[in-house]
Amino acid sequence: MKIYTYPDPILRSVSRPVENIDENILKVIDSMAETMYAAPGIGLAAIQVGAPIRLIVYDVLQGEGRYKPHVLINPEIILAEGSIVFSEACLSVVDYSADVERSARIKVKGIDRDGKPLDIEAEDLEAVCLQHEIDHLNGVLFIDHISSLKRSIYKRKLKKMMGKEA
Ligand SMILES: [Zn+2]
Repeated sequence: MKIYTYPDPILRSVSRPVENIDENILKVIDSMAETMYAAPGIGLAAIQVGAPIRLIVYDVLQGEGRYKPHVLINPEIILAEGSIVFSEACLSVVDYSADVERSARIKVKGIDRDGKPLDIEAEDLEAVCLQHEIDHLNGVLFIDHISSLKRSIYKRKLKKMMGKEA
């Protein structure tokens, strides 16, 4: 699948809840997992591949032939505590990473690909990853959490890179 990148306005969409998990949604889930591993990345939100639905796949423990994508539909953060600073990157924000402060521990509820309710307790990298991906469902990118100075430096860098390509 094609991954949309900043500043494509589609990334600013607020995704809508998944109403029922049909064949189409299952296909999207499988293609998203493939796209995430191929990139490679540790998480992918549906809006990044152009589908404005509240669906994410993630896998923070992949590697050495171990691939078990987690699927989370209609996620909702119900508890957040502590704080952690982590250097984040994003498949939709090319050639950039920056420190972002987020909650260190979260509880998330949602449903899995079979429609079963999920209750996830996550900390550290997994908590960061889930907050990053859930942000995408609300049209938020990790660069929205950094200082406007840093963001404008990145915008200039991006303009230069795009200029070279054109
Ligand atoms: Zn991202």
